[in-house]
This record gives sequence, structure tokens and C-alpha cells, in this order.
Amino acid sequence: MTVPGTPAVTPAVTPTRPVASPLETAQAQLSTAVKILGYDEGLHAMLATCRREINVAIPLRRDDGSTSLFRGYRIQHNISRGPGKGGLRYAPNVDRNEIRALAMLMTWKCAVVDLPYGGAKGGVTIDPREYSKLELERVTRRYTSEIMPMIGPERDIMAPDIGTNEQTMAWVMDTYSVNKGYTIPAVTTGKPLAMGGSLGRATATSRGVVHATRATLADAGVTLDEVRVAVQGFGKVGSHATRFLAEAGAKVLAVSDQYGGVHAAGGLDVPALLEHVSETGSVVGFPGADPIDNPALLALDVDVLIPAAVEGVLTDQTAATVKARWVVEGANGPTTAAGDRVLADRGIIVVPDILANAGGVVVSYFEWVQANQAYWWTEREIEERLEHRMLSAYSTVAQTARADGLTLRDAALTIGVRRVAEAHQIRGLYP
Ligand code: GLU
Repeated sequence: MTVPGTPAVTPAVTPTRPVASPLETAQAQLSTAVKILGYDEGLHAMLATCRREINVAIPLRRDDGSTSLFRGYRIQHNISRGPGKGGLRYAPNVDRNEIRALAMLMTWKCAVVDLPYGGAKGGVTIDPREYSKLELERVTRRYTSEIMPMIGPERDIMAPDIGTNEQTMAWVMDTYSVNKGYTIPAVTTGKPLAMGGSLGRATATSRGVVHATRATLADAGVTLDEVRVAVQGFGKVGSHATRFLAEAGAKVLAVSDQYGGVHAAGGLDVPALLEHVSETGSVVGFPGADPIDNPALLALDVDVLIPAAVEGVLTDQTAATVKARWVVEGANGPTTAAGDRVLADRGIIVVPDILANAGGVVVSYFEWVQANQAYWWTEREIEERLEHRMLSAYSTVAQTARADGLTLRDAALTIGVRRVAEAHQIRGLYP
């Protein structure tokens, strides 16, 4: 997807010092939780270390006959509570440490919403916009073949993430099934409806973000129709979240994607914006709105800021400019540890990624359960169960935060980390 006449990528931040890496952020968050929980060094080391990692080379025959080579990873951070679970990311900056960080976040996320899963993540260092559909199919099938020994419906279950989609999941599932000799839909989630996907999965992360937003506002006696919102990222999470927020009466003042952003002081006409994006591939150039860059969007005078793009956008420097009272993390790892301290010191409430964006993996779990039972639920059943899971996880986290005087992030992390540590301790150490 390229938009003529727009800059390639607007940097999310213009840092004057290096931004902490996603792994540094994830490790700092874990250290804080371990300190609160009073765990010893041995347990900390176990929780800090990925259990299994595969690093593969993926040769691709290009459409023009030439050959390119990519690096790919599948990393299981922890499998104490069940099979590994987590997305597959295709992006040019993917590296092993980023995938380790994202796998670790999946472990805490699955535990916070009490799914019987561990945490895993995969990635390929590729810019999918530069390759044809047939090339992406070949990359996906070769990647799947290379990591075959590690995945499976009882071992490690993949789902879409940045740069991948339901078609990617169909190719993974098909490659895995063909190699095993029979159809195994439960090896991936986020599949197309026509071949074992679940109703409600495509919008689940965004619905979950909206449930989390509604719940945190309710704690302050505020409703969605009273708030002004800015959304950074207009992909699988941000675009649907924008739509649901607007439908609930929130005024969306600004949105951005990888090509740029748009702002309207009186609120964007969201249905018209969605139409513009489906016609042009970007929010850029939406009539009736002014351009806005990412630093300005993060600093906009709104009530709720939803970073729903990539890691590391809220650093100590950008966090100091945030005017929103609530930050709801649609992305994984959008706030560095230093950024988090600045937001907490300024009294800004952060609904952390491992809670706020857990709706996707919750409905992934429902898809896996349905595939295992070969029995499909109605959309209503899925939406109700999703809302129930999100609200009950939010209320457990908020109660812990109040009772122990913690931020929502530290409360969510301690709940997630404690559940994983308990499973590990009860199972015992082998041999
Ligand atoms: N990639 C999504 C996430 O980061 C979904 C993972 C899944 O459903 O397994 O939460």
C-alpha cells in the first residue's frame, strides 16, 4: 500500500537521545513487578528468559526470478500455563530482541485475561509492502516449514500482527496441515471466516480497547460521549477502535497512520474518513481536516490518547508533552519505562497494553476453542464473552491497583507475572 505524494514514514518521535528498545522496556517492567512481588533472583531469571527460540533463514524466489534472503524468528517466552500464543509480525525492523520482548508481553497478557496459554511471538524481517502477494505467500509457506517443529495446536498457536493478516494465517494453517497430512485449523487464529475463523475476531482487539476505555472512564464518572480522543495508528487496531469510539459518541479529533495524520478541531467525520481510507489507502489528504504529525498528535489537547501503532512512541520526552488524562495502549509496548514514570508522575492514567489490547488474543482463544470443538458460536455469544472477559480483567486490575497503591500497569504486570510464577512453582522444576 503506497500513497503517491506522501512521505514514506513519519517518525513517531523526534528523539534527542536514544529510545529504550522494546526488550529493555519489557525487562524493566518485569523487574518492577518482581520487586513488588518480592521474588528471588532465580525466579526472576526464569521469568526474564525466553524458553525456546528458533532463528531461521528464508530464501525467496522473487517474481523476476532472482533470489532474496530474509531472517525469521519464532520465540516462546513461557509455556508454563499452556501452549505458546502470539502473533506473527512482518516488518523491516523486526529483530530477535523485539520478538523476545513481544513474546514476553504475550505471556503476561494471556495471564492477565486468564487464558490457558503461555506467550510467544514470531517475526520476519521484511517490508511486506515491497512484495507481491505471491511472494508473500512463498515467504509465509517457507517460514512455516522452517518453524514446523515448534508450532502446533497444542504447542504454539499463531495469529496476525503488524504486516500480516487473515490470508497469512490461512497460508500458515494450510502449509502446516499439508505437511501433517490432514486439516488442523487450531494451529492458527485470526483465520478467514470461510475456513475456520471466528466471528468477531477481526475487530476484537479494537472492541477490547473500547471496553477498556469505557471502564477506565467510568472509574472517574465519565462516559465515552463526553470525551475527545486522538488515535495514533490506523491499522487493524486503530481504524476499528476509531469507528467504535465514534459510534459510542466520542469525538475523534485526530488520527494518523504510517504516511501522516489528520486533525479537525471540531471532530473528524469518521464514516467519511473510513471511506477515504478505503479509497486511497491512507488517512492523508482527508478533506475537511488539517495535516498533523505524530509528535503533535501525541501532544494534542484531548481527553483520551490511544497509541495503536508501534513500540516506544511515549518516551520521557514525548510523555512530558501529553495533555490527555487517559492513555489507552492499543499497541504493544508503546510506552518506555522512562515514559511511564513521567506519565505516572503527571497523574495520567495508563491502561497498559497487556490489558487494553488483550481483546484480540481473547477472541483468538475463542477461535481455538471453537476449532477444537468443531462447533461455532454466534457473533453475539462471542461479543458478550469478550466484553465479560475484558471487564472482569479490568476490574481485577483496577482493584489491585487501588488496594496496593499501584499504577494500572504495575497492577496488571504483578497479576500476570504472579499467575505465571504460580503455575511454574506448582508444576515444580524437572528433573
Ligand atoms: N498480535 C496480537 C497481539 O499482540 C494477537 C495475538 C493472538 O491473538 O495470538 O495481541
